[in-house]
Parts: sequence; structure tokens; C-alpha cells
Amino acid sequence: MDYQSYFTSALTKLKDEGNYRVFADLERHRGEFPRATCRREDESDVTIWCSNDYLGMGQHPDVLAAMHEALDRCGAGSGGTRNISGTTHDHVLLEAELADLHGKEAALLFTSGYVSNWAALGTLASQIPNCVVLSDALNHASMIEGIRHSRAQKMIWAHNDLADLEAKLASLPLEQPKLVAFESVYSMDGDIAPIKEICDLADRYNAMTYLDEVHAVGLYGPRGGGIAEREGLMDRLTVIEGTLGKAFGVVGGYIAASKELCDFVRSFSSGFIFTTALPPAVAAGAAASIRHLKSSTAEREAHQARVAQVRERLDEIGIPHEPNPSHIIPVMVGDPMKCKYISDILLEQYGIYIQPINFPTVPRGTERLRITPSPVHSQEDVDRLIDALEALWVQCQLARRPMAAQ
Ligand SMILES: *Cc1c(COP(=O)(O)O)cnc(C)c1O
Repeated sequence: MDYQSYFTSALTKLKDEGNYRVFADLERHRGEFPRATCRREDESDVTIWCSNDYLGMGQHPDVLAAMHEALDRCGAGSGGTRNISGTTHDHVLLEAELADLHGKEAALLFTSGYVSNWAALGTLASQIPNCVVLSDALNHASMIEGIRHSRAQKMIWAHNDLADLEAKLASLPLEQPKLVAFESVYSMDGDIAPIKEICDLADRYNAMTYLDEVHAVGLYGPRGGGIAEREGLMDRLTVIEGTLGKAFGVVGGYIAASKELCDFVRSFSSGFIFTTALPPAVAAGAAASIRHLKSSTAEREAHQARVAQVRERLDEIGIPHEPNPSHIIPVMVGDPMKCKYISDILLEQYGIYIQPINFPTVPRGTERLRITPSPVHSQEDVDRLIDALEALWVQCQLARRPMAAQ
């Protein structure tokens, strides 16, 4: 086999479909985020409108101070797996902070949210004898891979569809172990799962629940515990999973659950055991971010206000965006080439960076620009975004909604 030409032809196919991924080479400016330098043929300043650092915590003074302090105190890396010299006091404190955030007995850290889903779901589903995983159809790739890796029996229920979930639960013997895996805020459509009703079904059919709150932690609930906190449901979930890399602005992932469950995953999960622990400075920064957002609601309030304002401005000029109850604004383009083209022009001519979201991240025909307003976007940033989108919608002859009567 000619390996190189195989790689080239596979990539050419992706390019022809408009689904080839091109990274923007960015350098974020501390204290000025969402501003960044973008390096292409030359350097230019851009405003980022698609970051998952939803609150700008990646540059919060408390977070940076904690990271500097830990770096100066302990040095760069952790030096080992958690079991072999890699557990520092910063890891212990961070796990306590996370358990408290979610009202659980314990928490367990992983190197990313992806790894936490992959490892925790993979371990639970493979180690619990005869376990069936009931997985929402739109679950994140990390959950899907974890479930697949477990080789457990899997049933996929239609997205957020309680009747379908119930039918699948009812088809299984009551005593058979079951795990219902789902998300709170779905990252591409921004819709929110009916958590209470899912927990009710899980109770009725004797199932465990596993909730990915990656796009909600830090952002919802009185202390940033996520949608389950906001709705007073944290105690009803068997496992709450989250990331430290999005609203908390650093990196890492975790689960929060009972002491026994966390100890079980800690003891049996390859993806936890056999990898170097996060650097202490990362753990300290994440803990500072969580601590800040537990007591401060200013960021969450400003975030919601900014999101509402951008939606309103899009409505005023008739640009179609999927309505949803979260902070994610999917502006629908519905064509991979046009989506990429708009994104390119926004970057080149307007200094606005919004990554196109194409297949396989979303289904074909639903290609979109996923806009994530934040408290660190200014009024002027919003004005420039709206003006640019308006001009591009005219230029590309994209469909608009009927505009509100003048
Ligand atoms: C981003 C994401 C993850 C992975 O989290 P990382 O910390 O980025 O690895 C898990 N679940 C969902 C729904 C995500 O969007």
C-alpha cells in the first residue's frame, strides 16, 4: 500500500466536502481577552466569538495569582501518576472543592473532561456485571467512546425523548444494572435535558444516572454547580461530570459522586491510574476559579445579559438562530462551504473569529456558526459583530427571517 497517497486522498475528500479542519493560530492577550493575535501570512488582531472560556476566567486575577503561586511553590509538573508521587495537596484541595460544588461526598480528577467521560463511563459500564448503558442520541464523542470501550450492551434513546427512554428502560429486567447517560446543556444546539423527569424514570426502573454538565458548570446555579444545582437536583444524580477547561478557564475534568463510586473508578480505571497527574499549578488555578464563582454571581449575570442582547440584535436584522434556553447561539447556515466561507471572511475582513461548525460535529445540512457571547465582550464588540454578519448575509444571499415590523 502507498500509505502517503492514501492519507492524501482521504484528506482531499474532506477538503472537497468543506469539512477539512483548519486551525486558527491564535495568541490570546491576558487582560484583553476576547482579543487575540491571529497569525496567517501576517499578524492581525482578532476578537474571539467562539471560545468556551465562557466567562473569561482564563484571565481572572485570582486564577492567575493562584497559578503563579503554585508554580513558584512546587515547580512545573506533578512528576507522576496520582499513585506514584503525583498527588499533591493542590489535587486534594481541588477534589474537595469539586465535591462541595456538587453536594457530593467525593470527586475524582482526570486530565480532561474527555478523559473523565471516557474513563468513568468505560469503567462503570465494563466493571458492573451485565450493565446496560442507555445513552442519549446526541451525547458527546467522549461519552460514546467510553461506552463503546466498555463493550457493555448499549441502547441509544432519541434525544431528550422521555417516552423513548422509558420504553427502553421498561424493556429491560428490573434487576439488571442500568446506567442512563446524558448531558444537561447540549453544546451544539444549546438545548437542555429534562433532568428531573429523567431521574424520575431512572428511579422507577432502578437505573443509575450519569450527567455531563460540561457546558453548565460555572455558568448556572447559585454557586455555579450547573443546571442540576439550579433545579435542586444534584442529589438525584448518581454521577455529575464536568470540565475545568471551559467556564472555569483552565484544564482538566472530573466526576463527583459517592465516596464508594469515586473510590471504585479510582481503583479500576486505566484512564485514571496510568497517566501523569495534572500540574499542581493547574489544580490550584482551577480551585481558585471554582471558589471565585461559588461566591460571585456577577459573571453569570453579565454572561446571561450579553447572550440575551446578542440574540435580540440578531432578531432585529432577521438572522436565523436556533432558539434555546442556554448561552449558546447557533446561527444556522446549512451549507458547509458557505459556513466556512463566512467564517474565513469574518476573520480576514472583519477581524472576527467564529469557527465554522460542520459535519461530523453536527449533522449535514445543519452547518452553523456557534456564537458564545461572554461578559468580556464589550458593547462595541457586539456592534461590530452584528454589522459584519449583516453585511455577509447580504453578500452570501443567505435566508433571513421576516424582520420585526418597524
Ligand atoms: C468539551 C466537552 C467534553 C470534554 O471536555 P474537555 O475538558 O474539553 O476534554 C465533554 N463533554 C462535552 C459535552 C463537551 O462539550
